[in-house]
Amino acid sequence: MNKMLLTDMNLQELETLVCELGEQKFRAKQLYKWLFKGVDFAQMSNISPNFIDKLSENYDAVGVRIYGEYKSKIDDTVKYLYKLRDGNVIEGVLMRYKYGNTLCVSTQVGCRMNCAFCASGLDGLIRNLTAGEILGQVIAVNALNSTESQRGVTNIVLMGSGEPLDNYGNVCKFLSLASDENGLNISRRNVSLSTCGLCDKIRQLADDGYTPTMTISLHAPNDVMRQEIMPIAKKYSIDDIIGAVKYYFQKTGRRIIFEYSMINGKNDGESCAIQLAEKVKGLACHINLIPLNYVKERGLSGSSKKNIYRFMSILEKNGVSVTVRRSMGGDIDGACGQLRRKVISDENN
Ligand code: SAH
Repeated sequence: MNKMLLTDMNLQELETLVCELGEQKFRAKQLYKWLFKGVDFAQMSNISPNFIDKLSENYDAVGVRIYGEYKSKIDDTVKYLYKLRDGNVIEGVLMRYKYGNTLCVSTQVGCRMNCAFCASGLDGLIRNLTAGEILGQVIAVNALNSTESQRGVTNIVLMGSGEPLDNYGNVCKFLSLASDENGLNISRRNVSLSTCGLCDKIRQLADDGYTPTMTISLHAPNDVMRQEIMPIAKKYSIDDIIGAVKYYFQKTGRRIIFEYSMINGKNDGESCAIQLAEKVKGLACHINLIPLNYVKERGLSGSSKKNIYRFMSILEKNGVSVTVRRSMGGDIDGACGQLRRKVISDENN
């Protein structure tokens, strides 16, 4: 794993490398095209064996390999497990919608945030993914699902394991690479980033000129309750978050999405709905209500349908734009970090 990964580089960096290795600059574009197809050196047919030999001494072409594929029987959702070069395993989900295919990608192995309902944080942060490893998930799934007429992945959500804004530099580079017109060329409008609310980084992202749809994992209508389920809430209050997303909206013009995972008997009462409506009043935002996926080690269960729809109607009555998100892939451990843990523990047994 000491070799560097070529998918960590943008076209300019590849051009510099190619020239340093004594090749002509246009070879970089050829190489770049192959990298986005997810193929290894042996398949790069228009690149000379001599150059491949030089390259492969210090570089790898593929950083992420599909290691398992689990198709839901309920819907068209597919869960992927990937293996990284150092043996770490990460996961992602491909969801098929009428308008295209959305891939949920991971940004870290594990997570530091330790939210009370989430499987990803159970072992803490193991390591950050590099830009090329985040991109590698898209490349691998895209290659497997593309047809002549249709791209395998049209939309990306940074909503898998990890906290994207806790891996800021690599995530920014990934955002640039994913929308590069010489590569996957995924429209910037089709990329969403989900965060537990690292306010300084939300502002920085807007300042640095990135414009993914900003999705905030809110999950509580007040700071006391939020602190009970999300340790990060001790650092940033809900008002801090609202300040940061207002700034993000002013700079990018993009409406904010709040995610609200509904936990039975915790955050799903009528008074929570009223407080939440009050908090987001006047913001250009939309709220997604998500039934919590049960994670054995966490022991929290999801709200009943009845409570979820009651909560939704209170928000609606208060003029808030809200939907209940379809829970997809429930039979294949669809939620953050669940499948990875299961596979690792099965392997260890
Ligand atoms: N760290 C980022 C992104 C990863 S989690 C964030 O906090 O947003 C992606 C989303 O799934 C978050 O909204 C997270 O709170 C939610 N989530 C995690 N575990 C869940 C579970 N068991 N059931 C429902 N949603 C869950």
